[in-house]
Amino acid sequence: MRTYKIAAIPGDGIGTEVVAAGTKVLEVCARRDGFAVSVDQLDWGSERYKKTGAFMPERGLDLIKDHDAILFGSAGAPDVPDHITLWGLRLAICQPFDQYANVRPTRVLPGIVSPLRKVSGPELDWVIVRENSEGEYAGVGGRAHRGLPEEVATDVSIFTRAGVTRIMRFAFELARSRPRKLLTVVTKSNAQRHAMVMWDEIAAEVAQAYPDVQWDKMLVDAMTMRMTLRPETIDTVVASNLHADILSDLAAALAGSLGIAPTANLNPERKFPSMFEPIHGSAFDIAGKGIANPVGTFWSGVMMLEHLGEKGAAARLMRAIERVTADQNLHTPDLGGKATTEEVTVAVCDALLGDNQ
Ligand code: NAD
Ligand code: MN
Repeated sequence: MRTYKIAAIPGDGIGTEVVAAGTKVLEVCARRDGFAVSVDQLDWGSERYKKTGAFMPERGLDLIKDHDAILFGSAGAPDVPDHITLWGLRLAICQPFDQYANVRPTRVLPGIVSPLRKVSGPELDWVIVRENSEGEYAGVGGRAHRGLPEEVATDVSIFTRAGVTRIMRFAFELARSRPRKLLTVVTKSNAQRHAMVMWDEIAAEVAQAYPDVQWDKMLVDAMTMRMTLRPETIDTVVASNLHADILSDLAAALAGSLGIAPTANLNPERKFPSMFEPIHGSAFDIAGKGIANPVGTFWSGVMMLEHLGEKGAAARLMRAIERVTADQNLHTPDLGGKATTEEVTVAVCDALLGDNQ
């Protein structure tokens, strides 16, 4: 039987709740579609950091470099500074595994109401591609004169020709694979006159190989307006690490809830495993209450199954998710309902087993 080795890293807060739910659903999916998943649960996270001083064991990446995929929850605890957690766990996986393409689909699922008055559903169907390896989050910079009045701190954005070219190619390919073949390149080349100008130039160069893809360019501030006022004019979007980070939270909110939004951190060349995770964080305000919305993790599971080549199982899981979101009684509190994580999980498993398509 085909068996996929999955590394599960629940992390912190509701990460542990949604990854437990996601693991259950993936196991049912596998059984239903005649393959197997072997899931290794790893205790990498803030608790481990507080005890041992490290989020993962020494040479931790060697333990998972041959896995087929990673299912990640969230990194972030109230008593650990956020930059320590992010760099100690999530970026410590994304960067060495060269997961440079971060893909974030956004749709208004059945039964979910967008906060946009004019959106009933089909008007908002986007995929945001985030450059995930450099740019504003390259980690280059430093501080001097610490604590003194003349203290100085810098964060330097790094844009390389190789890095920009590969993300543009990835975005044009993705746009080409979607029915509308429409790509928006987000930029800020009016104010940032070096890297963002090169970003625009490389977009135009890469575009020449994709005459069938219609593309336009948009300043990031104007893009927030277009997303809110003319969502139907957008299909595929490519943006820098920081810009896409911000735009994708906006996208998630416009599609109904942060708890639904999925993401894939892809190493498209498959030299390393790719990592799938909901875009939300640890949600301290609801952690431990059993009411976290697991849909973002389930949808990330769909992206994982697509990446593994299990197209049938991926489509079946997406149908199961949509059947469940369509039922208001199965909405968690973030969607205005009363359902628990457990109830939504059981309902998705039942929908999977009952799907005869
Ligand atoms: P958050 O996503 O944790 O929460 C924002 C709001 O959305 C909260 O009100 C929360 O209750 C709600 N929410 C989020 N996910 C939900 C879900 N699945 N179901 C129901 N409601 C949900 O963002 P934050 O508060 O800015 O960050 C909390 C911590 O998480 C911080 O330490 C932050 O650094 C970390 N974080 C980690 C990641 C990651 O690991 N990928 C991403 C974002 C934030
Ligand atoms: Mn973010």
